[in-house]
Amino acid sequence: MPPPVFRFAPSPNGFLHLGHARSALLNFDLAQQSGGRLLLRIEDIDATRCRPDFERAIYEDLAWLGIAWEQPVRRQSEHLALYREAVDRLARDGLIYPAFESRAEIARMVEEKGRSGAWPRDPDGAPVYPGTGRQLTEAERAQRTRAEAPYALRLDMIAAVARAGPLSWREQGAGPDGETGDVPARPEQWGDVILARKDTPTSYHLSVVIDDALQGVTHVVRGEDLFWATGVHRLLQELLGLPQPVYRHHALVLDDAGQKLSKSTRSTALRDLRAGGATPAEIRRLVGINPS
Ligand code: GLU
Repeated sequence: MPPPVFRFAPSPNGFLHLGHARSALLNFDLAQQSGGRLLLRIEDIDATRCRPDFERAIYEDLAWLGIAWEQPVRRQSEHLALYREAVDRLARDGLIYPAFESRAEIARMVEEKGRSGAWPRDPDGAPVYPGTGRQLTEAERAQRTRAEAPYALRLDMIAAVARAGPLSWREQGAGPDGETGDVPARPEQWGDVILARKDTPTSYHLSVVIDDALQGVTHVVRGEDLFWATGVHRLLQELLGLPQPVYRHHALVLDDAGQKLSKSTRSTALRDLRAGGATPAEIRRLVGINPS
């Protein structure tokens, strides 16, 4: 049997905090305990928010924690052509359409529709896109995509789910309500998700499944905030003919107010804790991961 392959996949859009430490240490320990490999992937497709100094800080903070990973590190921004091919394939299959509304326009449309009853929200709490772009004719689409206006390429969720059929994933951890084992994928909760934009030929959902497959990742270990996104990932794996890893979602590290940590909460940034005298052993204790 080939060794299991784990990965830690941070975005360099801020400094790593205790939540990242829990994920990274868990991946590292599981890889060590199983004689597996640990890969590091830099998820830097959002050119407006990602910065080289944050990327350098990721390497420093992980090394300080005692984590070792394989080289080379994969940087998503270097593989945009590959993601574009997948978008083209889904477009050829008739599963993608351009949508031209700005975020503010979507909010207005949803508010109007919501007057006659609550409008559905996705698991992250954002209103589901009402699917207006699906109604445009091919000629309108062609004309508007040639114009200057920005647009998003969205997955036609109903068509995609019909094509793929019922799906599930193997969960070795647990979801927010304790879901574990064989978990039914419910990608339709997210509506017509964005898979690419006019200026960026990919999205988090698309590049994560392509890279996990390409890098031979067998075990995805990550925070519980991505639990329901796994349904979208399973769907994309099925549509693109990619293998499925097993998943293990772990509880998030919360702040004193019970909120999920964010990269702007300086007090839990690893480099601030280090500057304040914390040791890697204390970080392990703080995030509840015993030394391996
Ligand atoms: N890049 C994502 C993040 O920093 C994690 C992606 C994943 O583990 O699937 O939240």
